[in-house]
Amino acid sequence: MNNYYTSTRNKKIQISAKEAIKKGFADDGGLFVFPDLNKLHIDVNKLINLSYEEIAQIVLEKLLPDFSNEEISNSIHNAYDESFDTKEVTPVADVDDFHVLELFHGPTSAFKDVGLQMLPQLMKNVLEANNKVMILTATSGDTGKAALEGFKNLEKMGITVFYPHNGVSKIQKLQMTTTNGSNTEVTAIKGNFDDAQSNVKKIFNDEQLKKELGLNVSLSSANSINIGRLIPQVVYYFYSYMQLVKNKHINIGNKINFTVPTGNFGDVLAGYYAKQLGLPVNKFIVASNENNVLTKFFNSGIYDRNMPFFQTVAPSMDIQISSNFERLLYYKSGEDTDYVKTLMDQLESEGKYQVSDEILAEIKKDFYCGFSTDDEVKDSIKDVYNKDGYLMDPHTAVGYKVMRDYQAHDAKTPMVLLSTASPYKFVKVVADAVMDDIPDDDHEIMEKLAQQTNVAIPDNLEKVWSLPILHEDVIDKSDMKSYVKSKVEAEFYDKN
Ligand SMILES: *Cc1c(COP(=O)(O)O)cnc(C)c1O
Repeated sequence: MNNYYTSTRNKKIQISAKEAIKKGFADDGGLFVFPDLNKLHIDVNKLINLSYEEIAQIVLEKLLPDFSNEEISNSIHNAYDESFDTKEVTPVADVDDFHVLELFHGPTSAFKDVGLQMLPQLMKNVLEANNKVMILTATSGDTGKAALEGFKNLEKMGITVFYPHNGVSKIQKLQMTTTNGSNTEVTAIKGNFDDAQSNVKKIFNDEQLKKELGLNVSLSSANSINIGRLIPQVVYYFYSYMQLVKNKHINIGNKINFTVPTGNFGDVLAGYYAKQLGLPVNKFIVASNENNVLTKFFNSGIYDRNMPFFQTVAPSMDIQISSNFERLLYYKSGEDTDYVKTLMDQLESEGKYQVSDEILAEIKKDFYCGFSTDDEVKDSIKDVYNKDGYLMDPHTAVGYKVMRDYQAHDAKTPMVLLSTASPYKFVKVVADAVMDDIPDDDHEIMEKLAQQTNVAIPDNLEKVWSLPILHEDVIDKSDMKSYVKSKVEAEFYDKN
């Protein structure tokens, strides 16, 4: 049995899961993937009545073969015992004729918590005795806070988050700037998200800076292409399936569908991994917003990033390159790394590539793809609330609309819709859809929405309004490198 990860662009690379987590992505620019994924079988019959954490243990042992069972177990407990507001971690709600898998019960009320609570725990087991690591994250809103919460107060690790000044919502800004913890750094930069992102990349590649930081300090990222974020997401596909079995909606072995609001393709790819491991799934419904590069790919076989960019009401899905799609191309091409490399080189040089008819057909066996406009998002939020009393956030509503489109072809297969954020995280759009007379202030909107709908405000979003602001830095985008250097010195050299 193979126990190594390889690169999507070069099958000669062999690397352990621990090394893959440490590095993030391969030196050739490819992503780390596990060959022959479908040979690692998980028998759903053995998952009956297991808790979320017990299922996580089974899934992670399979996919992280060089971690000891104890390392995995400690990581799971540290990640999920205390930080989620329910023991179930990702509970399933029954709504109308479908099931909502709620991924927003973590410390920041967004689905990224599932991966970002786990990644730092896994990283702990990867650092050698004297090593210290500074995590750098550029964020357009959600990832920054989820990363801060994941890495907060961990020994030998620090985290620095850059967000665009005036480029995130009021709640998102408050969430980040009120973060406590001994090792957390947050600063606004005078620039946009792309400036933050491209400067962070430059910092990673700065050899001079590496020398200055010293041998024992490395820089790393909490990027969504890291297998340490991706693999924990496989767990909730198994867990939600077992919930449907437990509640007698299906018999064990029956196939179900999953609808997934999609940006970088990490979440839905984790579902495909679950299917490869043996979860009985018919189709994954991939839902995009008006940045619908993927829908066009499904219709034509051409992936073309040269499309107008839209700022939508589901901003965490405003993405033109779904990085994790490269991993699907690897599996669907029969693990042909030369082929994937050719496509990715074309994407780099021309901004587009075209797959063969055979590969497109292979992809369509497992996936359906569609998109939702902003107006449709608001209609969906309103319709589902009025009809079923269930309040969805805009990202989830993108999924809902595409799910209903798909069901015109297949209404019978049981359906799970993944919900990726609390409605209170994007409260203006949600209030707009279900309320009249909307106050100006986000905090007031929250309170009013809670009163009207009886849906509780998550603790962290309720409390954030009264917390002290701990991070007020605003820096020039050209000063990011020196900022990192001074924070590394403060974290790792000046403290005791
Ligand atoms: C990141 C995010 C998504 C998209 O997930 P991907 O794994 O990038 O496809 C969807 N909804 C919300 C709220 C998110 O934060």
